[in-house]
Amino acid sequence: MTQRVIPLADERQLRRLPTIPEVLPAPTGQLLDTRGRAVKDLRISVTDRCNFRCVYCMPKSVFDKDYAFLPRASLLSFEEITRLARLFAAHGVTKIRLTGGEPLLRRNLEQLIEQLVRIPDMEVTLTTNGVLLPRKAAALRDAGLRRLTVSLDSLDDATFRIMNDMDVPVAEVLHGIEAAAAAGLGPIKINMVVKRGLNDQEILPMARHFRGSGHILRFIEFMDVGCSNGWRMDDVVPSGEVLQRIHAEFPVAAVDPNYTGEVAERWRYLDGQGEIGVISSVTQAFCSTCTRARLSTEGSLYTCLFAQSGHDLRSLLRAGRSDAEVSAVIGRIWNSRGDRYSELRSAETAGLPKIEMSYIGG
Ligand code: SAM
Repeated sequence: MTQRVIPLADERQLRRLPTIPEVLPAPTGQLLDTRGRAVKDLRISVTDRCNFRCVYCMPKSVFDKDYAFLPRASLLSFEEITRLARLFAAHGVTKIRLTGGEPLLRRNLEQLIEQLVRIPDMEVTLTTNGVLLPRKAAALRDAGLRRLTVSLDSLDDATFRIMNDMDVPVAEVLHGIEAAAAAGLGPIKINMVVKRGLNDQEILPMARHFRGSGHILRFIEFMDVGCSNGWRMDDVVPSGEVLQRIHAEFPVAAVDPNYTGEVAERWRYLDGQGEIGVISSVTQAFCSTCTRARLSTEGSLYTCLFAQSGHDLRSLLRAGRSDAEVSAVIGRIWNSRGDRYSELRSAETAGLPKIEMSYIGG
């Protein structure tokens, strides 16, 4: 019998918002948390819906036809998202990533991009499964998007169909990558989540395929996000092992990070055929340099990917609060942030009722 593992009430719990101070401080662009970490990146989930049912993210046993996705009225509008993005920019955010769910399922997404790229000095990007790119890539580029990340876990059709669980063939994603490159959205980052026994045999074929293509393949350790994917430490292929396997066929050397706090560790092929990245959030936690905030589809702020609850900013927007008031609340939330889940991860924490990635944004 299929067991339903996430009670919705637990999944979408909210914390009480900090009170609005009487004297409203002007943002300094240097907002720090209790560990001295600045807020630099904002990930925005624009929909909790997806056209894939990846077994490690939105397993069909939970996200089935009876699953209650958010009603349209709950979603932040593009105007609300842009307003919050501007407030975060004043606090120091310089990079926004649109995600989900599958962000390209959100109708007229290019209109949101047009609004976000107008924020001074803001880099805007998105993460997608790529299937809708042949239809959307040119419009995204025209709207001002300059680069994006495509998720692809295997080049082998049988394996990929098992992983996305919607019978989507690899060719559809490869067409999406080609369309994005043709529209001028390259170099493209390709994200591969590696799960032992499921697709780790695809590490080398993926490396061979994307070497020399100009695109950057990144291997992500399977994480215990949410509480529906049955995560076990044994299923994680440590990045060290991924690198060993690649190095044995194509020698690689470490490259300096592009900036402090970069999540992916960079490696280049010694024969000049480009670079790869590894994202080791399980075996080498990077909480100490984490500068990411997350805005859920319905406008709750989460200060950690592994959070159990968020802060309902939408209620402030819809109650007619001023920019200065909302900004002060964001400041107080970030000031009190102490999250460092990945440093504390254990068999016990893996079972906590954490928020699902499709809701909070990957
Ligand atoms: N639908 C889009 C996509 O497929 O890229 C964006 C949302 S998805 C949640 C964002 C990223 O999170 C994808 O690269 C996905 O592979 C990754 N992801 C999801 N669940 C994960 C897990 N349990 N461990 C590691 N990465 C995961």
